[in-house]
Amino acid sequence: MNTLKFQPIREKRQECFDLENYSFNDFTFDNDVKKRVYSNVNLSIFTDDYCNANCKFCVAQLRFENKGQMYKKCRLRNDEEYFARLEYVLDYLRPLNPSVSITGGEPTKSHRLKRILELINKYGYRKRTLTTNGSGLLDDMQGKPVIQHIVDNGFSHLNISRTHFDEDINKSIMQYETGYCSNDDLRKITAFARANNLRPRMSCVLLKEGIHDLDGIIKYLNFYEELGMDNVIFRELMDFDHKNMSNLEKMNYCDANKVRLNDIWKEIDKDERFSPIRQLLGYYYYVEVYKYRSIDMVSESANLVKLYEQKEVAKDVVFEMVFHPNGNLNGSWVDNEDILLEYNGK
Ligand code: SF4
Repeated sequence: MNTLKFQPIREKRQECFDLENYSFNDFTFDNDVKKRVYSNVNLSIFTDDYCNANCKFCVAQLRFENKGQMYKKCRLRNDEEYFARLEYVLDYLRPLNPSVSITGGEPTKSHRLKRILELINKYGYRKRTLTTNGSGLLDDMQGKPVIQHIVDNGFSHLNISRTHFDEDINKSIMQYETGYCSNDDLRKITAFARANNLRPRMSCVLLKEGIHDLDGIIKYLNFYEELGMDNVIFRELMDFDHKNMSNLEKMNYCDANKVRLNDIWKEIDKDERFSPIRQLLGYYYYVEVYKYRSIDMVSESANLVKLYEQKEVAKDVVFEMVFHPNGNLNGSWVDNEDILLEYNGK
């Protein structure tokens, strides 16, 4: 019987979040607005909304009636203007010493990626992560594969999204419009990354149509362990507030396909192959980490409704920072919400 040491916090996690357990740094943003910034804060650089896949569960598309509508969001069209603004923000935030992650859309398909990587390297940000669906990692970008640029600029973590080890099931859920990242590609990517101090991690959203139970999780872990991976995260689909969303197709899919980690954790409790390592309670997410053979297995549930509740409770607190394609720095993934540094063209 596995230890049940995670259970007390797991069961009470909705009530357990407590600001007292966090440490903060005072920091001044635009208009002399003073905030308390979480000491382990992350800066996400949201390259662009463009993605060459169209995952049935894509949370980024929930606020837009369809994928095309999302591309109409405001953004800086001029590359030089964009990079000047990004450099200003990177310089401004450096005293906070945030970790940094690059995300999208699909960042490996952005023509801006190389210079973004170089700017992050120039400003020496710690714990550099890139999140991708993998399809552009082996593409040529100015004479080198994209993954080489990621390595050359000192990135240490690479998150690769994939819903299933079976190619047909994965393709049917992620619905690539162009390009693909096959398991053969992943074998090459893993070997290259691990030889260059870039730790790859498979990221799998749990779905009734995809990986949906402990048996599926074990098959996924075994498959990617054989392929050379030692790090996998399984994510529960986020709970979201339906009245703020407009993409009915995606909302219906998410509602119909949600798999609850609570049910799977109860099975893991009884399974000797998993050793509990630690649990983590964030301001809108809850994580359990296990060791399974050679793999660090992370399991995460997050709740967007909770996120807004926590922000109401702690209005002067910044938990995360997002640099948007319109040049704004926000405390939110929505580009006109919770603006910390507003871009006004200067
Ligand atoms: S790869 Fe990510 S951004 Fe692209 S469609 Fe899928 S979930 Fe959305």
